[in-house]
Amino acid sequence: SILNTKAALDLSTSDQLFTRAQHHIPGGVNSPVRAFRAVGGHPVFMQSAKGAWLTDVDGNKYLDFINSWGPMILGHAPDIVVDAVRKAAGDSLSFGAPTRREVEMAELIKKMVPSIEKVRLVNSGTEATMSAIRVARGYTGRDKIIKFEGCYHGHGDSFLIAAGSGALTLGAPDSPGVTQGVALDTLTAPYNDLEATERLILANEGQVAALILEPVVGNMGLVAPAEGYLQGLRELCTQHGIVLIFDEVMTGFRLARGGAQELFGVTPDMTTLGKIIGGGMPVGAYGGRQDIMDQVAPAGKVYQAGTLSGNPIATAAGIAQLTYLQEHPELYTELDRITARLADGTRQICADLGLNYTVNRVGSMFSVFFTDQPVRNLDEAKTSDTEAFGRYFRAMLNRGIYLAPALYEALFISTSMTDELVDQYLTACRESMIEAHG
Ligand code: PLP
Repeated sequence: SILNTKAALDLSTSDQLFTRAQHHIPGGVNSPVRAFRAVGGHPVFMQSAKGAWLTDVDGNKYLDFINSWGPMILGHAPDIVVDAVRKAAGDSLSFGAPTRREVEMAELIKKMVPSIEKVRLVNSGTEATMSAIRVARGYTGRDKIIKFEGCYHGHGDSFLIAAGSGALTLGAPDSPGVTQGVALDTLTAPYNDLEATERLILANEGQVAALILEPVVGNMGLVAPAEGYLQGLRELCTQHGIVLIFDEVMTGFRLARGGAQELFGVTPDMTTLGKIIGGGMPVGAYGGRQDIMDQVAPAGKVYQAGTLSGNPIATAAGIAQLTYLQEHPELYTELDRITARLADGTRQICADLGLNYTVNRVGSMFSVFFTDQPVRNLDEAKTSDTEAFGRYFRAMLNRGIYLAPALYEALFISTSMTDELVDQYLTACRESMIEAHG
């Protein structure tokens, strides 16, 4: 566990693979943020990982601050999860018929997540959010939804809507291929602004089926809800008959066993889950109040299905990881402590260098915004210096620290992070901040 001290990494095998990949895969990657376009250079191709450490195809080692964008809360390849997957694999990879593990998984999720009375398993966070708004629309008989600027809910058409034109303005497609018709049904408001949201609801009285948000945002960098904000949204939704959906794909099982809703004591009507719930396998879930979830086929008329949903390998991994979290509540206290050391240490280094950058943290998620402004919404996040971040990212990578290759992302810490590794990170951080601003 010694960080790189070489002048430059040998990334020749990664570069060769990326050249090949670009001939066959759009942009050379299967998900856009992996392409390093925001930071310059080519992506690193990974070979294996254990605990806190990644090894790339050229044999370089990195201390991992992405953890697969959240799922690997116990670090990479924890024995309990890998053993469960091995055991399940021998019994067939898929049946397309019900299994015992699906029942156990549902019971476990209900036990852990306060808002969930019934739950349906799907294969990704995107499927979870797409399905949840369909159910909310079916339940309320209304068409519109409200989302917040800078929140990401997967790549469903309804969610790829920018909000540049302000809270009361109708949405416009953010991505080519999203129809104007779909865009018109997505209303947007700035995050952390209750009044703007109330105005939007009043201007569309009786038409809003659901209000969906990340209760703690990870997708514009890490942004925490202001005091009373989640409670205020809860009250507005109750008052206007709107289904409140917490998208806890990132925060679920991470900020507490029961996610942000447990941490902040606010219970939504529905919750969407992903990432940690699959232990690294492709899984998502949506659930909530029984009267709402009973709208889902075959109990009700809102259709939603999946050939591989509740897959035996995915549920084996999920049950193993969730059971461990359920039985070890003390690990959340430790994650909080170690991530505070990372965030506070980074803030101090920036202060020492006269940069005064904003470091936001909630639990085991944090972000360094390259700005001295407070960051409470997307507009404030955008005051960050992206060029300086790119230089910092490359300096850190060269020192064996694997950060998210984009400024507007959260970093995810696992239980494999130790005090010794925090010290190594802080050394690299100081050197890289100096290099990036030198
Ligand atoms: N919702 C949130 C809050 C997310 O962060 C993500 C992905 O990062 C999604 C939904 C989409 O999940 P997936 O990438 O599994 O489709």
